[in-house]
Amino acid sequence: MRILIAEDDATLGQQIKSALAEEGRAVDIATDGEEALFLGSTEPYDLVVLDVGLPERDGISVLKEWRKENVATPVLILTARDGWSERVDGLDAGADDYMTKPFHMPELSARIRAMLRRQSGNVNPVFQCGPIVFDSRTNKVLNNGMPVSLTAQELSVLAYMFHNANRMISRTELSEHIYEYDGDRDSNTIAVFVNRLRKKLGKDLITSARGQGYQLSLD
Ligand code: CA
Repeated sequence: MRILIAEDDATLGQQIKSALAEEGRAVDIATDGEEALFLGSTEPYDLVVLDVGLPERDGISVLKEWRKENVATPVLILTARDGWSERVDGLDAGADDYMTKPFHMPELSARIRAMLRRQSGNVNPVFQCGPIVFDSRTNKVLNNGMPVSLTAQELSVLAYMFHNANRMISRTELSEHIYEYDGDRDSNTIAVFVNRLRKKLGKDLITSARGQGYQLSLD
């Protein structure tokens, strides 16, 4: 799952990025409102963390512009502790959730997991397909109750497929959601990851249609 962090405080931006990257997210950082607007309008993010106080263009105005352009990406705004009116403006402008600064990173991570889960339509943090169980809170994967060890890339592909189950996903789409902006994106490697997942989790978990992509169907 790929996330945009729009935050002009470089230290905080990096802290959020490393916390999320540790959980297998591909993370891009925008340090001002214009960059945030551009990236959020042109790249297919699964979620945006948007600081309200950004230079060049403030966060609420960026959010309003996205919603006007029908960018439906879930947005969590970061506001000052006493910024209740910013939170009202942000939620009314189309934000899905908020956090006040300072915050604890595990809470931000949990809110992001909840937003991604809601977006996927899965009410349960644990995703299941036949004998395969994926716990989105811990990134643990079980096959018939036995833990399965996956590489970071295999896990990224699997998480994206569980969050976007029951529809065909192209290799390009997968690569756009597991790699960062300047990442070494090669959609051919996606086939390699999918084949390894099939070896580890059974060949029936992910079906494919020639030239179209891959599908994971929930029970
Ligand atoms: Ca700021």
